[in-house]
Parts: sequence; structure tokens; C-alpha cells
Amino acid sequence: MYVMHLEPIADGAPLAGWAPVVEDPSFGSLLRPGAVMRRLATGAVWSEGPVWLPADGSVLWSDIPNDRLLRWYPDGHVAVFLGSCEFQNGHTLDHQGSIIACSHGNRRVERLALDGSLTPIVDHYLGMRLNSPNDVIVKSDGTIWFSDPPYGIATDWEGHAAESEIGDCLVFRFDPRTDELDAVADWVEEPNGLAFSPDESILYVVDTSAVSRADGGGNHHIAAFDVLDGRTLTNPRVFFTMDEGLADGLRVDVQGNIWTSAEDGIHVIAPDGRRLGRLPIPERTSNCVFGGPTGDRLFITASTSLYVIDVATRGAVATPAPG
Ligand code: MG
Repeated sequence: MYVMHLEPIADGAPLAGWAPVVEDPSFGSLLRPGAVMRRLATGAVWSEGPVWLPADGSVLWSDIPNDRLLRWYPDGHVAVFLGSCEFQNGHTLDHQGSIIACSHGNRRVERLALDGSLTPIVDHYLGMRLNSPNDVIVKSDGTIWFSDPPYGIATDWEGHAAESEIGDCLVFRFDPRTDELDAVADWVEEPNGLAFSPDESILYVVDTSAVSRADGGGNHHIAAFDVLDGRTLTNPRVFFTMDEGLADGLRVDVQGNIWTSAEDGIHVIAPDGRRLGRLPIPERTSNCVFGGPTGDRLFITASTSLYVIDVATRGAVATPAPG
């Protein structure tokens, strides 16, 4: 494997000379004056899937090619939480505060307990194995929405090479009360990160199909859908086209702004599609999550490292109470 030394950074030293890039004056209202970007840990190969855990304020994230989960604690200590985790990628919390994980290697969405045990949630669609679930969110009604692109079966780098049984890359909605799995979108070529607007009337889905295309084609945009009756998607459209590489994971704040990963850091996009500004990161950036006791710390995964910045807004998704 590709294990590298995992290096904690004492007290998360600020990045020297760091400053946000303000592209619209309203970006300032989302930032803390004098805010700094801190690197909390490094030594991963490809960091992804951060989730903030209210029980102890720690952040769990994936180091996918190393097939392990890492965990940063508020006292600055960093540890390997779980090795041989079958190439988990995205994580989120359900309303009970338990961790929902996307597993490339197990080709399923599963529950991850804090003792490291895994419980399958869903792994087949119409009798066919899923490709490799990438990112996952939980709606206010408890349904689990996830993307299923090919990146965990395309090669052995982030999973196990295999043919797609479904032959398509879909966005799914799973209802854990009825065990119903519905494909809700086939319009996105290779769906990746996803997030609802604060009122859940819009679903944003990143399309990273440019990753799979050597010819320079494919998509590198964020799609948007209207959500009908809380469960059906309609009116697919390109919401925002990235100009710096690809988006991957994204989150929405309480005002409806989209905080998306990009080649060069985090880009913040207003609900009307205007980019307000950027938070530069010196590594290719994959995902982010709002956390902290008041929901206003943005934890960012980028290539080898985990970063954090305190912001002046908070995530639209309420964090379950500690438990
Ligand atoms: Mg992703």
C-alpha cells in the first residue's frame, strides 16, 4: 500500500501570508475579520469525506488510497481511526448522530460505529451491485441520498477494479424505514458531492465526469435540481461551471451559499450563481464540512491534509446533539 507518515501539526499553525480572495463585497459578511487558515494534520495521500463528530468535537476523514480513516481531536492529536476500511469515501451523520459512510470497496452505503464496526445499509439496485458510492447526505425526513460514480471500480487505486453492473452513474434516495431505493437522477454524468438548499427545495450535485475523460471533454460543473414532494427531482440545470479544476464535495450554509471544493481551495457561490470569493488552499481540495460546537468552523480536506477556518456563518444542516 501507500502508507505515509501521518504528521500532526502542533496547535494547527496558521498558513503564512494567507488571505481570502474577495470577489463580491458580500463575501466579507461570511468571514471573520482576520480569520486564518490552519493546517491541522498532514501525511495522507488523498483526503476526503470529512465529518464532524459532536460527541467529542473530533473530525473523522478518509485517506482513500491508503484505505484508512483518520481522526483529528480538538487537543491537536491525530490518529488512524480505522485501517482496512474498504476504501471509505464520503461521510455524514444521520439524525441520531450515527455515521453514514460511502464504501468504495464494499460498494455500498454503510453505518460506521465508533468501535469501528460496519453495518450495511444498501448495496444493490434492482439486483445489481452499486458502483462505488462517493458522497452521502441525510434529508430532514431521514432519507439517505447518495451519488454512485465509477471511481472506486475504475482502478485499484481507490477500491477494487470491476465492471459496473448498473452501467450508469446515478443519484439515489434510500428510505431506511421502507428499504426502498429509488434512482432520482441520471442527468448528471458522474455524480459526486451533493447538498440540499436550506429549505430542501433544491438539490445540488457535482458532476466530475471530466475526471474520466482523457480527451479534455466531460463535465466540471455543479448541477441543480428542484425537489418535488420531497422525493422527486425535476428541472435539471447547470448551476455553476468550475474554472479551477473540479468541484468534488460541497456544503450549504444557512443563507443558502454553496461552499464547494475546487482545484485551488474552497469557492463560495451565492444561491443566484454568483461566486462571492475563494478560500485558497495550497493543495488540490476535495471536500469540506461545517462543524464545531456552534457550526461555524469549516473543516477542509485537501490532498495530504486537513485544514480549518472559522467563518461567520454556519452549516444549513443542523448537527445532532452530542451522543
Ligand atoms: Mg467526492
